[in-house]
Amino acid sequence: MTPPPAAGATPDAVDRLPLLTESERAALARELINCLDGEVRFGAHDRMLYATDASLYQVEPIGVVIPAEIGDAVRAVEFCAARSLPILPRGGGTSLAGQCTNRAVVIDFSPNCRAILALDQANRRVRVEPGITVDDLNDAIASSGLFFAPDPATSRHANIGGCIGNNAAGARSIRYGRTSESLIAVDVALADGSRHRLAEGSCAADPKLLAIASRVCTIIANHAPLIRGRYPKTVRRNAGYNLDLILAQMERAAPVRADFGSRDMEAWLRAVNLAHLVCGSEGTLAVTLGAELALHPIPKARGLAVVAFSSLDDAMDAVNPILTTGPTAIELLDDTVIDLARANTEYRRYVDLMPAPREGELRAILYVEYSAASSRDELSERFAALQRAVPAKAVACHTDAAAMLQAWKLRKAGEPLLHGIPGNRKPLTFVEDNAVPVERLPEFVRRFRAIVERHGTRAAFYAHASVGVLHVRPLLDLHDPDDRARMRSIAVEVADLARELGGVMSGEHGDGRVRSPLLERFYGPELMGAMRDVKLAFDQRNLLNPGNIVAIGGPPTPIDSMTTRLRIMPNPSRPQIAFPRVETFYDYTDQHGYYAAVEMCNGAGVCRKKQGGTMCPSYMATLDERHSTRGRGNALRLAITGQLAAPDEAWADPETIKTLDLCLSCKACKTECPSNVDIAKLKSEYTAQRYRTRRPPLGVRLMASLRILNRIGSITPALANRIAAMWPSRLLASAIAGIDPRRSLPRFSTSLASRWSDPGLRVSGTLNSAVSRPHVALFGDCFAMYNESGLGLAAKRVLEALGYRVSLANAGCCARVKISLGLLGEAIDEADATLDSLRPLIADADVRAILFLEPSCLSAVRDDWLSLRLRTPMAIRRALANKAMLVEQFIDASWDSHPFRPASQPDGPAVLLHAHCHQKALWGAESSAAALRRAVGVRLRVLDTGCCGMAGSFGFTRSRYDLSMRIGELALFPALRVAARGSIFVAPGTSCRHQIHDGVGATAVHPVELLDRLWCGSSPG
Ligand SMILES: Cc1cc2nc3c(=O)[nH]c(=O)nc-3n(C[C@H](O)[C@H](O)[C@H](O)COP(=O)(O)OP(=O)(O)OC[C@H]3O[C@@H](n4cnc5c(N)ncnc54)[C@H](O)[C@@H]3O)c2cc1C
Ligand code: SF4
Ligand code: SF4
Repeated sequence: MTPPPAAGATPDAVDRLPLLTESERAALARELINCLDGEVRFGAHDRMLYATDASLYQVEPIGVVIPAEIGDAVRAVEFCAARSLPILPRGGGTSLAGQCTNRAVVIDFSPNCRAILALDQANRRVRVEPGITVDDLNDAIASSGLFFAPDPATSRHANIGGCIGNNAAGARSIRYGRTSESLIAVDVALADGSRHRLAEGSCAADPKLLAIASRVCTIIANHAPLIRGRYPKTVRRNAGYNLDLILAQMERAAPVRADFGSRDMEAWLRAVNLAHLVCGSEGTLAVTLGAELALHPIPKARGLAVVAFSSLDDAMDAVNPILTTGPTAIELLDDTVIDLARANTEYRRYVDLMPAPREGELRAILYVEYSAASSRDELSERFAALQRAVPAKAVACHTDAAAMLQAWKLRKAGEPLLHGIPGNRKPLTFVEDNAVPVERLPEFVRRFRAIVERHGTRAAFYAHASVGVLHVRPLLDLHDPDDRARMRSIAVEVADLARELGGVMSGEHGDGRVRSPLLERFYGPELMGAMRDVKLAFDQRNLLNPGNIVAIGGPPTPIDSMTTRLRIMPNPSRPQIAFPRVETFYDYTDQHGYYAAVEMCNGAGVCRKKQGGTMCPSYMATLDERHSTRGRGNALRLAITGQLAAPDEAWADPETIKTLDLCLSCKACKTECPSNVDIAKLKSEYTAQRYRTRRPPLGVRLMASLRILNRIGSITPALANRIAAMWPSRLLASAIAGIDPRRSLPRFSTSLASRWSDPGLRVSGTLNSAVSRPHVALFGDCFAMYNESGLGLAAKRVLEALGYRVSLANAGCCARVKISLGLLGEAIDEADATLDSLRPLIADADVRAILFLEPSCLSAVRDDWLSLRLRTPMAIRRALANKAMLVEQFIDASWDSHPFRPASQPDGPAVLLHAHCHQKALWGAESSAAALRRAVGVRLRVLDTGCCGMAGSFGFTRSRYDLSMRIGELALFPALRVAARGSIFVAPGTSCRHQIHDGVGATAVHPVELLDRLWCGSSPG
């Protein structure tokens, strides 16, 4: 039966926890600092960055501890125990049910507690600390031929501690099971800070564990019939405590009945492994300090078949026949996700890799994975069996690792992509976790759809079809009280449906704030009483993540608490958060405003990955939540809704400014964040709003005057370079502009305009119609004009060698520096002025293209200028964006129509390309690589080197120099240091070339300079 909508906020378990004043928190922090080597962060801003996970919820913690090592974490637990403070252990904070939000002291294991302690290859075991991520562990042990098998979609950033907390499982659970099936032992701190090892039979030698285990066995023996009857039999089940697992262990040792004797108990105590009870307990029973994990041999080969369907129902009906072919995974994506991927810059290309259904258009995909234990031939047999199982379907089979990785990327982005849906009705995570017997899946999907449709909405379906776990996200608007009531109703109806079909409402993501309220309805009061007793056996004072799974010391968690403490309205006494209205510099219409754009961050934490791609360089270098994209998204959301500062300070909150400070504005998140959260733009807007009422600092003003300063320097470059190199000038630059004295300064050159050979082409837009060759214009950016005019001339030579007439568009600045610094008012004026100068070239049909050397300038024109509120009509901006491209893009894209085409020179030294962040984010590294490949063929290697760390003016400043170098050291510097002698380093970005010079003392050239050498015979330097 559907419960009535909540009338108001009902007190829940959080209300029973201590609410400390700021001075009490400050006093605690002072005491804690004396106990720990790690960091203690009890300030409002810091703790609010830990108030959310990937769920819908927000609960302000008491404070945050970042232990320096495991011993520190234990001291933190002891400290809390001595003061009866609730504790919330945390890993990657990627939980979807709200179990990682609480009014507690958060212990973040992820930055410093991530060691691999011992690898036992012979016995296929590994001992690790809890903060290591699944992928980091597997990368580190790959050479042993073994791997940790549970693979949640978040494996790049989910921690082992969190996997144990949530009993995580992934796509291959049909073969490898959940984390509990790979868990041998856990080292824990109990709620009093005492340390223990939980393993099979380990309680015999540990009196405290013995007492707990005896209590647990007694509880389970007393409830055995209920556990047998009520616990679902699905492979995936993650609701409540794992009483069924312990019961099975007991039953293997001696028959379980309520009238047991002491011999039964002895047998049980030898057999039970309390690690499996802690697994899935969401931090409510013990704090995991380390784990011993079982490993599996890495299969000899894996194969992936992608099966295309023109309807979801067809796909569901195919699951059972496919299961007979022995897959390691069957994963589903439905049309909602496919459509979102098509609209996403990064994921569009992955959809294009999918096969087309034999009839109709692509509306659902099943990913079917096989593994081969001995030889690749096994895969061909499996693929053939699959074709027989679904004879009428289009199937694409892959065995190539790169192709499979590409295909999986789409599936792994399924959930985060959903958050990219603009507008207020979002696909919400509250019934996304049901597990039903696979044979009931088609019925489940049909009836589930009927439920959401009856409530006037629709839902997206995706995930682990092989084990009957479908992630379903109904579209609802949590700002709307009617939709909140719908959420509660749908949750209850779907939980009932799952139970009726022999399943459970939580098959993967756990209970947390969203499903704990449903447990009583699912298991009944008696079993819930048993779970409460288990909790008390471990944690008598209810200190560990209180209120999750079971509520102690009060009534069961009410169902309407599911819609309280939502991150969009976290405070029941202040239901609506006010968003101060401002006139924004960017236009956010397509995202439904600035607030909605900020809200696009759902906390999934993809931005906490440590390798691969570019996002997020400052997180990769610091491993600090505050300096992740998510940290910034949260800070912005909290600031502009007045949750961090007084409403009139919403746009000038000092702590938010600090959190944004280490963002390099690299734009990587715009593409790599599956929700396309564009922090570079949001930060720029936030800063610009502040500058409406406060003067920008002098250093910012000076940096913004780059073009003028460069122009002055280029009048007498030799003198200017001498003066700039003198120490008094460097000290002055450091004192006034904050430039780090360790930085080399850019050198000035004679201006490009004065070196451009044809005087008739110096003025913007002046065309020389006497020349009949096709015409292109070269945009005179600030660097090519005044610092590296030789590069501008190289571009001219290269384009002339291809048969073009080249004019110099000395039209002004793209305003990139001002945009990045948040001087958006001035940036708009500057962009409009430059657009005015460019108009003749834009309008002239004879000008084939307006070409750029500097990717960050082109990104301003093709990205920022299209969403800044410029005065220039959009049609003109679009016309320019269509005509504007990198010189290298033009060379490659128009290759067949160039009047002349130089031959490739495949012999010679290796050419290593480090692409600029903006380029990678907006057009991919191929935007330079393709043209280079035409010149050097297979000599070209595109480096996966992320961000160089310089990012325009970012790396120049004293406060960021060290971080800038650390970012360079993540991937770029090591890659260059190990390059073969004589290799040629190529970097289209001026900042990147500068950073390479300062970081490894090497010279990198612009791609065009290399082409100039190869095609025009120019000598290096
Ligand atoms: C996009 C997306 C996809 C996901 N896909 C999957 C999936 O395929 N399979 C799956 O199982 N889950 C999935 N999840 C949920 C989640 O990512 C996983 O459960 C993951 O294992 C959680 O790891 P974490 O480090 O982020 O844990 P956290 O969220 O930090 O913590 C999880 C729980 O464990 C507790 N905990 C953390 N560390 C400790 C510790 N040291 N001691 C005691 N308790 C601790 C926490 O208190 C919390 O209750 C997904 C989440 C998202 C956002
Ligand atoms: S910024 Fe993007 S990747 Fe990071 S948590 Fe938010 S939505 Fe996820
Ligand atoms: S712009 Fe770059 S540095 Fe800034 S949040 Fe995004 S990925 Fe991180």
